[in-house]
Amino acid sequence: MTATLRAFTIVLATVVASQAWAAGVSVHAVRYVMGTWCDLVIFDPDPAPDVVQSAFREIARLDDVLSSWNPESEVSLLNASAGQGPRPVSVDLANVADESAALCTSTGGAFDPSVGPLLRAWGFYTESPRLPAPAIGREAESHVGCDRVTVRRDSRTIALADGAALDFGGIGKGYAVDHALAILRARGVTRAKIDFGSSSLGYLGNIDGGWPVVIPDPRDRDNPLFYVRITGGAAVSTSSQRERFFERDGRRFGHIFDPRLGRPVESSLMSVTVIAPRGSTADALSTALFVMGAAQGKRLINAMPGVGAVFVEQSAKGLVTTTAGKVPRLTRFSN
Ligand code: ADP
Ligand code: MG
Repeated sequence: MTATLRAFTIVLATVVASQAWAAGVSVHAVRYVMGTWCDLVIFDPDPAPDVVQSAFREIARLDDVLSSWNPESEVSLLNASAGQGPRPVSVDLANVADESAALCTSTGGAFDPSVGPLLRAWGFYTESPRLPAPAIGREAESHVGCDRVTVRRDSRTIALADGAALDFGGIGKGYAVDHALAILRARGVTRAKIDFGSSSLGYLGNIDGGWPVVIPDPRDRDNPLFYVRITGGAAVSTSSQRERFFERDGRRFGHIFDPRLGRPVESSLMSVTVIAPRGSTADALSTALFVMGAAQGKRLINAMPGVGAVFVEQSAKGLVTTTAGKVPRLTRFSN
């Protein structure tokens, strides 16, 4: 087998996920959780029979804490108490809110968990998002900002300013990846992969040569552009406006907002993929970098040890792919 053919086979193995790895796979389970399909693949022989159940149960439990779509979730109930002072919250809600609040500061408000009112005003909690009336948009914008949320991790309370609402769509799947992998590890699993619709992935342990991760063409996710090989204990997250969007007058309005402008990000950046030691970091940073753009985003990543990012931008000459920070060598996918 030539090197090119071998590379092709490896990448194809990722694209078609576990089918091509079937020889080494002992379990491949798929569930619809957190609003998307989640793939869990275990490579150890004979894992404990209920280990898959435990991992998916943990993800569903976290969805009940973090989902802004579910009016009964812990965060929705907290949002309903905005303006009423500090409220006691669970460990998970305190952890995610604390990490999000820190990122809000370190990204200059590009990643901001208080974007809830904007998502609501633009209809992103429905199946048919739309442009809001200008007054409604401005009102929503006035409730957004890092300073609208006060998290006390020690006493486990969160206070939201009147009209504020938290949304953890930009970090929740990554946090769930970390927790599901921790459960697998505690149950003796040594090699596994969790994949939330290719937008948040986490890897436990190693496979020979590292896990192949595909950077797809953002315009057609079935068309791989590059792959990298990452070693265990890493997580990957990709953000783009092509996941959820609507079009109006030839413009595309997607689900990632620039909280500083109070509207969806519109730029030549097509996708950002982040590789980080933890899923929550990868997930939140991919959203943050999408808002910041490649130039500013690269400065942030270069100042963060152990984290890397791949930016895919549209230019007059076609797609341009660049990297920052700790990214393994990109191999162009060619066939
Ligand atoms: P995906 O949902 O595909 O994993 P992202 O990780 O990029 O995509 O998260 C996008 C989600 O993050 C949005 O649907 C919304 O819930 C939330 N969000 C949108 N804009 C921001 C922002 N500027 N900061 C934090 N969260 C955001
Ligand atoms: Mg994200």
